[in-house]
Order: sequence, then C-alpha cells, then structure tokens
Amino acid sequence: MFHVEQFKEIMNIERLTKAVRNVPDFPIPGIQFKDVTTLFKDPETLKELSDGLYEMYKDKGITKVVGIESRGFIMGPLLAERLHAGFVPVRKQGKLPAETYEICYDKEYGKDIIQIHCDALNENDVVLLHDDLLATGGTMKAAVDLIEKFNPKKIYVSFLIELTGLNGRKLFRPEMEIKSIIQYNI
Ligand code: AMP
Repeated sequence: MFHVEQFKEIMNIERLTKAVRNVPDFPIPGIQFKDVTTLFKDPETLKELSDGLYEMYKDKGITKVVGIESRGFIMGPLLAERLHAGFVPVRKQGKLPAETYEICYDKEYGKDIIQIHCDALNENDVVLLHDDLLATGGTMKAAVDLIEKFNPKKIYVSFLIELTGLNGRKLFRPEMEIKSIIQYNI
C-alpha cells in the first residue's frame, strides 16, 4: 500500500480528510457519498492537492494524464498542465465525437460502457490514470483494460480518495502503482 508520509510537508492529510464532505444516503440509502467539491472550493486545499500530486508524479516521465468522467476531469487537466503532459478524457458511451475504443463493465446495478478516442494514446506514452475515488475498483479496472489496448510504456493510477474497506485494489495486478491521498476504512 502506498503511504503519503513522504509528502506530508506538502499535504496536510488530516486537514484534507476533514475537508471532504460526507453525504449520507446519496444517491441511494446506505451510501456514504464522499463529496470532493468541498476540497476544490477552498483555494488552500486545492493548492495542496495540486502540489502534492505534482510532487508524486513529477519524476515519472508522464506524457498523458487520462481522466475518468466526470470527477477525474477536475484535477486531471490541472495536473497534466503542471507535468507538461497532455490530457485525455475517458467518457461514458456516446459522448466522444470521433472514432472510439470501448469497454463494457459490470456495475452494482447493471452494466456501463466507457470510451476513449482511438488516436488519444500511443505506445510511447507513459500514462497517469486519474479519478476522484476508488470504491470497488470496477470503473478504474475497466479504464486500465481500455488503456492497455494502446500498449503504453507504463500506466500509473491515482485517486484522491480510497475506500480501503472495499478492497478495490484486489482487482489490479500487484505490480501496478496505485496511489491514493486520503483513505477511509469503509
Ligand atoms: P468503483 O467503480 O466502485 O470503484 O466506483 C468508483 C466511481 O464511483 C468513481 O468514479 C467515484 O466517483 C464513484 N463513487 C463510488 N462510490 C462513491 C462514494 N462513496 N462517494 C463518492 N463517489 C463514489
């Protein structure tokens, strides 16, 4: 498991953890929804996240940050600009205008399809996949499988939040570098 200890001078994890709004029973009863908009609206926590993510990935040679719709579209482009990388969106079915690759995956209720433009990446890319939150891991696992179609040099995975009790990491190969900044044991 990745520890953010080494970035404690840049990010106050306790403060960041407190800044996430918990919304009980949203969107359905029983879900503790972790609302990241409260992290982004405060200029101090937004800067801490931006600086922290930059420090975590600045030496990795990232060429493309791939953000997952829709909350991966907030820190994703911000980080891409700081890393001098490009930004690529992974979107729900039917949103991207040009030719796409797609993957279908199981959700708690039914199935979902995510897509990426066929010309978005190539085998010379070092990819950082980003989303706001790791829960069961199904969404990110599908995104990793989609990105692997491009055979990039390397794939890194980053989240702002991880719900460690759901053990989403078990879906990924052990050698995959998966980082999260804030962890909740639910
Ligand atoms: P999963 O595929 O189960 O890992 O779910 C991850 C996706 O669902 C992410 O895009 C999250 O934004 C969203 N998500 C799942 N559970 C929560 C939660 N408790 N609070 C906020 N977002 C969630």
